[in-house]
Amino acid sequence: MSKKTIVLAEARNGELRNVSFEAIAAAKEIASGGEVVAVLAGDVVSDMASQLYAYGADRVIAVENESLKHYTTDGYKQAFLQVFDKESPEAVVLGHTSIGKDIAPRLAVKLDAALFSDVVAIESEDELTFTRPIYSGKAFEKRSAASDGPIIVTIRPNNIVAQEKDESASGEAESLSVDVKDLRTIVRDVVKKATGGVDLSEANVIVAGGRGVKSEDGFKPLQELADLLGGAVGASRGACDAEYCDYSLQIGQTGKVVTPDLYFAIGLSGAIQHLAGMSNSKVIVAINKDPEAPIFEVADYGIVGDLFEVVPLLTEELRNVLV
Ligand code: FAD
Repeated sequence: MSKKTIVLAEARNGELRNVSFEAIAAAKEIASGGEVVAVLAGDVVSDMASQLYAYGADRVIAVENESLKHYTTDGYKQAFLQVFDKESPEAVVLGHTSIGKDIAPRLAVKLDAALFSDVVAIESEDELTFTRPIYSGKAFEKRSAASDGPIIVTIRPNNIVAQEKDESASGEAESLSVDVKDLRTIVRDVVKKATGGVDLSEANVIVAGGRGVKSEDGFKPLQELADLLGGAVGASRGACDAEYCDYSLQIGQTGKVVTPDLYFAIGLSGAIQHLAGMSNSKVIVAINKDPEAPIFEVADYGIVGDLFEVVPLLTEELRNVLV
């Protein structure tokens, strides 16, 4: 049965996040021939509409309002509920990002919708079924809706493949004005950390270091490898606790959950709490001087050796091949 499906697209610093294109692909699967409408909210967003068409949206709605310049739970909830009032979607898809995790349950309550969170795969043949990891990624469960009511789905970045970009598909955003009022919180200013580079949660290649890197400087060879491969640097909590790097790099149960195509686990032991954040990576390469380190149990490729010798050699070899 076809379902009119809304995608709540997400932009950061004026650029759409990849997960929004993946959400359109997920929405197509859920809509099963029904209309897929992408919604962009912010102060000035309509210029990003063409990309959403290029990735498969049938329509794009721009909700522009000065109060939506920065994300607030109150403001975005009010805006999206007004969009839903007008559009009456049967399904809503968004990224399982900080914003998605915050707003999806609130929208689900308001819409009396079934919520499927952190979805990594969707099947639509006989019945719409959503696969999501449970027990920190040690098992997967499949869920489907118990009734025909609306559904809300958050998708984990880097799992559902976006459609091929079709540059010939284009269009203008439809503008929808919303009334945003009585906000309980106002964002006065956003102070960015000077990390820059590739976004860890969406990176295709992650080079993660642990306590074995021994110092802040010890991360430099890892950064070089990441830069060469267009990837991002991550860390174990051991490295963060030792103040070798910032906690924003932490991967694991109490850090970020990532699913890159390639994950380098360097000088980290592979504690269960770390595996919870990265064990679903497509290819894992472990570098550790201890052959008994548990990380080798989940690694596709393992190198037993001193990271300060192995990483520069690997970077040099890769540079010869790639550059
Ligand atoms: P270690 O376990 O000390 O491992 C260091 C590794 O480096 C060793 O295997 C060693 O052989 C290797 N090594 C040392 N020198 C070299 C060298 N020169 N070359 C090559 N290898 C070398 N941890 C996380 O990562 N993420 C989380 O989100 C997280 N959440 C947690 C939540 C809770 C409630 C708890 C209790 C713990 C959590 N932890 C988390 C901590 C986790 O249990 C481990 O303590 C932590 O992951 C260990 O970090 P590590 O692997 O860097 O350090």
